[in-house]
Amino acid sequence: CGIFAYLNYLTPKSRQEVLDLLVTGLKRLEYRGYDSTGVAIDSPDNKNIVMVKRTGKVKVLEEAIQEHFSGKEYSEPVPTHVGIAHTRWATHGVPCEKNSHPHRSDDENGFVVVHNGIITNYNDVKTFLSKRGYEFESDTDTEVFAKLVHHLWKTHPTYSFRELVEQAILQVEGAFAIAVKSKYFPGECVASRRSSPLLVGIKTKTRLATDHIPILYGKDDKKLSPDQDADSGKPQVLPRSESTSEFMPLEEKEVEYFF
Ligand code: GLU
Repeated sequence: CGIFAYLNYLTPKSRQEVLDLLVTGLKRLEYRGYDSTGVAIDSPDNKNIVMVKRTGKVKVLEEAIQEHFSGKEYSEPVPTHVGIAHTRWATHGVPCEKNSHPHRSDDENGFVVVHNGIITNYNDVKTFLSKRGYEFESDTDTEVFAKLVHHLWKTHPTYSFRELVEQAILQVEGAFAIAVKSKYFPGECVASRRSSPLLVGIKTKTRLATDHIPILYGKDDKKLSPDQDADSGKPQVLPRSESTSEFMPLEEKEVEYFF
């Protein structure tokens, strides 16, 4: 399947523009999966997350988005925004709306997740969570992840968003890439991968909030510096390794790059 996440805090954009970017991202990824699609963005009052999902191709989702997000509140620029999107190739659960991504926690979309791959121990995680009162609405392996992050958030209230997702990742087995968004952490998006490709593209005029960006690895595990183009001139697909944890400072200049 294809997952696509977009985080903007550079130039105010309307939700409509964010949705257009998400749909464009999905169209580029459609070759990776095409049985169903979905997006999640912030509601106009920023208090909730709104999701639209459809069975079928991205075109069907695009039409649904036009219907669903037609109000004036969606054309007003907002300073920060995170949106996530998915085009599915079902592995667990038939293609249908309830099995489409994003999947969510029970607290009215507190945590929403898009996922590529398979969580092989999802049954164990489901049993663990069911014993703690969680109910499941889909037949997917993915849904357990949203609920697991919610459970960790409840039990570890001091954890940052990143720590919550890191802890959840430690509990799940399999090969995957994920992107998570939360109404409790507005303006943040956490993405991770294990043995699945994940591309990060960054455009910034100033230092990133953390003053750091991760060093990622190109083909043959060759380190890519931020301003170094990939051989092909195209975004690099990361190799199948788990190492994306080194950090380097970002220079204070306008840069736009993919790696
Ligand atoms: N295992 C997940 C599902 O069946 C994700 C499949 C995919 O990569 O599209 O929903």
